Parts: sequence; structure tokens; C-alpha cells
Amino acid sequence: MEQIDIKSLTLEELRGQFLSQGEKAFRAEQVYQWMHEKLAEDFTVMSNLPKTFREWLETEYEYVTLEIVEVQRSKLDGTCKYLFRLPDGHVIESVLMRYHHGNSVCISSQAGCRMGCRFCASAIGGLVRNLRTSEMLEQVYRIQQDSKERVSNVVVMGTGEPLDNYDNLVRFIRMLTHEKGLHISQRNLTISTCGIVPEIRRLAEEELAVTLALSLHAVTQEKRRELMPIANRYELREVLDACGYYFRRTGRRVTLEYSLVAGVNDSDEDAAALAELAGPLHAHVNLIPVNPVTERNFVQPREKVVDKFKKNLEKNGINATLRREMGRDIDGACGQLRRKYVQQPAGKLMKS
Ligand code: SAH
Repeated sequence: MEQIDIKSLTLEELRGQFLSQGEKAFRAEQVYQWMHEKLAEDFTVMSNLPKTFREWLETEYEYVTLEIVEVQRSKLDGTCKYLFRLPDGHVIESVLMRYHHGNSVCISSQAGCRMGCRFCASAIGGLVRNLRTSEMLEQVYRIQQDSKERVSNVVVMGTGEPLDNYDNLVRFIRMLTHEKGLHISQRNLTISTCGIVPEIRRLAEEELAVTLALSLHAVTQEKRRELMPIANRYELREVLDACGYYFRRTGRRVTLEYSLVAGVNDSDEDAAALAELAGPLHAHVNLIPVNPVTERNFVQPREKVVDKFKKNLEKNGINATLRREMGRDIDGACGQLRRKYVQQPAGKLMKS
């Protein structure tokens, strides 16, 4: 019989499971708190449960934990990059960033990615598989345990397209923000998408208060199509309309992410057009000088070009921030640490 992944079950589901097996309902709360608040590493540490009950849990359920393969610590800013092994042997990466306002964790939503954005290292090997809810939660849990510091913000901006793993993502959001779990505020959770229109609209209707970030990167349909294959499926106009809907439905301002690439999308005209798109949306613009990736030949604009681009936006009343580069000395850009491992001799770390 296949074991059920207990860490992906909501409290209500867990209660239902236990009741149908003749167990007491309050056991569900105890087990849920051990998993999601006390971040227990296995059933054996759940000391207020009878031994026979713990043994029963072990036979019925799979207890998903992630194994830390490697941690790279930046000497520049305290950023830590974690490489985790999933129960089936695949590896994923997550990042801990330390800001003045608290600790932020960037998690992966898939092993690999099938969106194929031209500048992104995660796209190179394609999609391996979706991550389960438990595997997304575990990235936050293991980092909080390892660093012994509270995680206050989570961004789903690591490897993978979160809206391509929709059901597991929404379950992750609800469980991460649940009062019997880590209880992270929904406002401190950001979901970054390349722009899957129907799922943006669906997310808008979930009655959640999470921030949506759209990876825009270009101001015309033509240019966007050159950088991001997803633009062949959805027109720029449709994507922006979906963001407008998200803003109206949730009251949450959308962030537009814009990776600056020298000679590609960094001109004065690009800045003016970006201001025109962002203004009506009341969107905040996040500028990210493109991170060079070994396999790609995109180059960052010079600092003065980046500053001018930002000033151009601000002149037009757009709220813009330049993403501080963190962990530059530790393979900071998306997918780079994992990529290095996947490139190792076959079979060493990855099963595939
Ligand atoms: N699939 C989601 C989330 C993962 S990528 C998305 O597309 O939004 C997180 C952000 O990093 C996206 O804005 C992505 O376009 C950007 N990104 C990827 N590779 C990059 C690179 N080499 N330099 C700068 N930004 C990059």
C-alpha cells in the first residue's frame, strides 16, 4: 500500500483521516503542530503521542524531509544558498537572505522548469517534476531550523514556475500561513510568475492576500516573445489585464520584475514604455541587472545606464527599486547552484 504524504495534508484533512481510522480528532492538532510549528524531523520526537500511535503513523504515512547536501555562505552579505536532496534523489536549491526587516527565504516550486526563458539557468535542463506541498514547506522549515532564525518572508522565486504547479502551490500558501503552522503573514509571501494568464486570474479568486510578481522583462509583445517562450501563448496585453484583475480583486499591488539586459531592453524608450504599462496598474517595478549565466551570453548594462533607467521610471511617477545583488560570490542567480550539481558526472547526485 502506498503511504500518504502526511506533511502535505491540511489540518482538516488530517482530522478526517484520523477520525476515519478510529483515532481521536485532537491527535490531528498535535501531529499538525509537531510537523508545521515545531518542525519535527520525524515521528519519534513527537513526545506527547503514545508510542503505539507513533508506530501506527510510521506504517501509514510518509514523512517527507529534505536533506541538506550543501550550504554556501556569502562572505559579502550573509546570504546562504542551500542545496537540498528530495526523497527521490533529485536536488533543488533555496536561498536565505538577511535584510534589515527580517529573514527572507526564496524557494523552488519545481525541480527544473519547462518555461524556457532565454536568460535563466533553471530552464536549461527542462522540467524534472513538480514539487509536492511538503517539499515546498520543508525548504522553509529546514532553513529556519538550520539558521536558528525566524523566517518572516517567503518568495516563490527559485527554480520552477509556481503557477505551473498550481494546486500544490495554493495548498502551500494556505499551510505556510496557517495559525497552527509557522503562521507567516500572507502579505509577506510573494509568488513570481512568468505570466500564465488563466492561473493568475484563478489565484486572484482564492481570497488570499499574497503579493503577485510578474516577470515582465520587455515592454512589447515582440521583444517579450524573444526572451520568454510563454509570450507565444499569452499576449502582453492579456497578461497585464490579468494583473489588473489581480489588483482589483485582492487590493494587492502587483510587482513587475524587469531584468535589465545591455542593448536588449535598457533604452530610454524602454523606460518610458515601462512607465506607461506600470502606471495604470499602480505597479511597483523591481529592476534586476541580469545575472550572467555560464551558458548564456546576456550582459548587464553599465551602472550608469541602470541608474538612468530607474530615474526615468521615477520621473514618470513609478515606484522602482533596484534589486540589491545578494550572494554574488555564491552562484546567486536562479538555478546556478543546482545546475553545477546536475553537471557533475551522471548518477552522482541526480537519479535521472
Ligand atoms: N518562474 C517564475 C519564478 C522563477 S524566476 C518567474 O518566471 O517569475 C524568478 C525571477 O528571476 C524571474 O523574474 C526571472 O525572470 C528572473 N531571472 C531568471 N534568470 C535570471 C537571470 N539570469 N538574471 C536576472 N533575473 C533572472
